[in-house]
Amino acid sequence: MEDCIFCKIIKGEIPSKRFYEDDLMIVIEDISPKAVKHYLAIPKKHYKLFSDMSDSDAEELGACIKKIGDIAPSLGLENGFRFIINQGDDAEQTVFHLHMHLIGGQKLYSCDYRNHD
Ligand code: 5GP
Ligand code: ZN
Repeated sequence: MEDCIFCKIIKGEIPSKRFYEDDLMIVIEDISPKAVKHYLAIPKKHYKLFSDMSDSDAEELGACIKKIGDIAPSLGLENGFRFIINQGDDAEQTVFHLHMHLIGGQKLYSCDYRNHD
């Protein structure tokens, strides 16, 4: 946890462009955006995997997801967005603090992952 980039961002030790914050999560701009709008919604509680979640973590994550629905228009995502959580090696998770990618601000084309090596 001491070495976790997202814990440091939450504490303000690493700067970020913050669009929303409440008791449970922050929403920041991804440093390396993959679309016109690319945000990270990061629960303040540190855990890596779905399977690491306690019941109360799951309740809090549910509240975060509901809140994302409320704030999406203010993030420029009123026409829709893609919601992604990468978990583990196959998904190329690179930061081991569970977080949600919110991607949009443009038409998002569907991906066929089978066509990649
Ligand atoms: P993952 O691959 O773990 O699902 O996503 C990690 C995301 O965090 C990547 O999209 C990456 O660009 C983003 N990221 C990594 N380091 C930083 C940082 O210091 N600041 C911000 N804003 N985003 C970061
Ligand atoms: Zn963390």
